Amino acid sequence: MSDWAFYKTPKIIQKLFPDLNWKVNTNAKVIYPTFDDGPIPELTHEILNILKDFDAKATFFCVGENIKKHPKIFQSIIHNEHSVGNHTFNHLKAWTTSHDEYLNNVELCQREIEKHTTQGKKLFRFPYGQFNLKLAKRLKKENYELIMWDVLSKDYKTSISSNRILEKSIEKSENGSIIVFHDNIKAKDKILQFLPLYLEHFSDIGYKFKKL
Ligand SMILES: [Zn+2]
Repeated sequence: MSDWAFYKTPKIIQKLFPDLNWKVNTNAKVIYPTFDDGPIPELTHEILNILKDFDAKATFFCVGENIKKHPKIFQSIIHNEHSVGNHTFNHLKAWTTSHDEYLNNVELCQREIEKHTTQGKKLFRFPYGQFNLKLAKRLKKENYELIMWDVLSKDYKTSISSNRILEKSIEKSENGSIIVFHDNIKAKDKILQFLPLYLEHFSDIGYKFKKL
């Protein structure tokens, strides 16, 4: 993710790109947590345990090569009844990869996913949030739901403390928010600290956490 990233995706950006899903339109007290980049042995199970403590469901946007390396961990995500989505096979950057190569890489990841689940929905998230409209259109044609976010926790930024991440994540979340967390090594120490506090805060005021 780049430095231009906002904690809260501006409404104007959400409106400019209506083909992408930025949040769920609802008045209900529901938040949609998402975790990018796993599965990995160092963190995924711990995230699953934290989610279980709060009866929370989430969506995991997995990298194909990680699924291939850690199929058992991928299966535990599915057994815990979370959703899984495609995050390309090699965590590609859309702005520096040809469209054909990118789409093949997405397909490769999808094949890896479908070895383990028959989940009907095809969910996709662009690594680094890098997208362009042509690519988005081609993916939509292949029935991918393109999932962005309205809240970015910035848990991958080593310069930001976990307290600050917690504070901003709470401040920016609202009914129907799709929030991004990271199931990766960079985020590990912080996520283990703030994730239970984030979930506790919203559980205490009547929120549910659902998968996409
Ligand atoms: Zn990613």
